Amino acid sequence: MPTAMVAAPPPRHRPPRSWSRRLFATITAAIVATGCFVATTSTPAAAREGLIDQARFRAQTALLGADCKQYLTGPSFQAPDDRDPQQVAGRVPIVSAPVPAGQPAGAIASSPLFRGVRGTISVHPNFFASDPGLPVSPTAAFAPSADQQRTIAILHEIGHLTGREGDHNQDLPRQFEYNATILNLCLARPAVPGPRITGFFCSADELYGHPFNCDLYWEDGTDPDEVQVSSNGSQARRYNDYAHNYVSISGRCDPYQDTYVSISVFDANGRRADATQSGFCPRD
Ligand SMILES: [Zn+2]
Repeated sequence: MPTAMVAAPPPRHRPPRSWSRRLFATITAAIVATGCFVATTSTPAAAREGLIDQARFRAQTALLGADCKQYLTGPSFQAPDDRDPQQVAGRVPIVSAPVPAGQPAGAIASSPLFRGVRGTISVHPNFFASDPGLPVSPTAAFAPSADQQRTIAILHEIGHLTGREGDHNQDLPRQFEYNATILNLCLARPAVPGPRITGFFCSADELYGHPFNCDLYWEDGTDPDEVQVSSNGSQARRYNDYAHNYVSISGRCDPYQDTYVSISVFDANGRRADATQSGFCPRD
């Protein structure tokens, strides 16, 4: 009885030239490529050049990070320059070109596998779109902006050139995961702005004791938030709804001086926003 076939060992040598020339690896996306959607607005050449230069610069900056560089480094059978993603990022031409025949219409970029510093990265019309539609798996730490998608697209192709990533045209989940890994290792999470007060209103009643009430709303900041309140009013009480970035404060007006309420919203990073209300109590 014959023994079962085992999978061939991974290649230890440079793949034959004809093979590496023929295969084009692309960032393809069923999302982008559904129907026959292709970005149709033509971007002026100068604007295209600007977006290409920016994406290359950001890819080079990302590759200064050790984790990013290590992840995109090619296998040892590649020549030292060819497997080095920084060399590839700095030396290969990046050209604007139509989607090659046989590639999905929505392809963002493409490059030949394993060519290293002798390769070329081609970027296609969707690369310049306001939303290139780069597919990333849910393991991505955040949703990339359009500029970040272009940076990831260049890093993606650099990985094909170094040989880090082989042909995955038939493996969409693999592409999603590859893009997400690049995002997680190479790009910084966008900064969340500090807290910002969007509403702070106080009003008092003419009722006995002049009760007052304030409503405070804010946005942004990194959770958890905390609100500090100071007031010269008496019996000040508060209701916190931090989940909805809302606090209400109630109390009674000071009968002898103008009543004020001061609040400070702090976020988890210690950033703060301050506001004060006064002049809302009736003066006898
Ligand atoms: Zn690819």
